[in-house]
Amino acid sequence: MYEIERRVAVEAVLKACSLCAAVQSAHLSAGVINKEDRSPVTVADFGAQALISEVLAANFPHVPLVGEEDSALLRDTDNERLKDLVIGYVHRYSPGLGKETEIFKAIDRGKGEGSGRGRFWTLDPIDGTKGFLRGDQYAVALALIEEGQVTLGVMGCPSLPFHSLQEKDPLGCLFVAVKGEGTYTRGLDNPAEMKTLVSSLSDPAEALFCESFEPSHSSHDQVARILESLGVKRRPLRMDSQVKYGLLARGEGTVYLRLPTRKSYEEKIWDHAAGMIIVEEAGGRVTDLHGRPLDFSRGRTLAANQGIVATNGLLHKRVLETIRQVVNKNQ
Ligand code: AMP
Ligand code: MG
Repeated sequence: MYEIERRVAVEAVLKACSLCAAVQSAHLSAGVINKEDRSPVTVADFGAQALISEVLAANFPHVPLVGEEDSALLRDTDNERLKDLVIGYVHRYSPGLGKETEIFKAIDRGKGEGSGRGRFWTLDPIDGTKGFLRGDQYAVALALIEEGQVTLGVMGCPSLPFHSLQEKDPLGCLFVAVKGEGTYTRGLDNPAEMKTLVSSLSDPAEALFCESFEPSHSSHDQVARILESLGVKRRPLRMDSQVKYGLLARGEGTVYLRLPTRKSYEEKIWDHAAGMIIVEEAGGRVTDLHGRPLDFSRGRTLAANQGIVATNGLLHKRVLETIRQVVNKNQ
C-alpha cells in the first residue's frame, strides 16, 4: 500500500537532504535569522520546504501541507541576501522553480491547518536547526496523516552514519515507515533498503536514554532523576531533532524522553509524526508522558498531549510508572 506516496515522499526528502547538506558544507549557516519565537531559521529551512512542497504539489495537488515555515521573513526587505540564497539553491535542485513568487507560493502551501478529517502532509524541513548550525544532527521529516492517523513517515538524516554513531563516515541515512508494513532504512545515495527493528533490551540498567540537546526543550533534571530511579548505568545521549526516534527504531537507543519544561507548551505535529511511525513500525511504542496515544487530529499541535515517551516497547510500562512517581511527585 501507499506505493506512490512512499516513492514520492522519499524522492522529495532526498532532494531536500541534498540541498541541506550543500548549504551546510558551504557554511551558509551564516545567513541565519531569528524567527519571532527567537528560534533560528536558515537558507536550508526555506529551501527544503520549497523543494518538498513543490514535489508534493506536482503529485498530490489536492492534499494540504502543514509545514513549519512560511515566507513572511523572506519577503522582508531586510532579508534580501537570505532570499537570494534561497532562490539560488532551490533553482539548483529544482530547475523548474526559479521565480521568487513561485518559491514563496511553494513555501506558503505549508500553511495548512491540519485536522482529524481527510488526509494531509506534515513537514519539518529541518528539524533541529540548532543542531544543523552546530554541525550536529538534524532531520528532514515528512509524514502523511489520514483521519488523524499517521500512515507514512519518511525521515532523512544527512549527518547520521548508516549503521551506528560509532562510525566515522556520516554518509547519511533515510528511514521510511508505512502503517502495518514495518520500518526500513537506506543510505541517501543507495536505494537498497534494510528492515529496521528496535532493541530487545528489557533491563533498564543497560538502556541508552536519549533527550534533547537543548535544556529548554526537555527537562534534563527530571530525566536525570528518572535514570537514577531506574538504575540506568549509561549517561543519557543528548541530541537534536527526530534523529532520536531513528536511533530507537534501529535499536541503538532504547528510550527517548521529552519532558516539558513548561506546562503550556504544545508539541508541534511535524516534530513527531514521522518519528513516531518510524519507531512504532520498528516494534516500539510512543505515547505522551501520561501513556496517552499522540493525537494528530487537533490541528498544528499535539494539544491533547503532554511530553513524549518513546521506547522499544518492552520498557514502556516501567518508564511510564517511573515518570509518574518521579515527575509528578516533584510538580
Ligand atoms: P529537539 O531538537 O529534539 O530539541 O527538538 C527541536 C524542536 O523543539 C523544534 O523543532 C521546536 O519545534 C521544538 N521546541 C521549541 N521550543 C520548545 C519547547 N519549549 N519545548 C519543547 N519543544 C520545543
Ligand atoms: Mg522541528
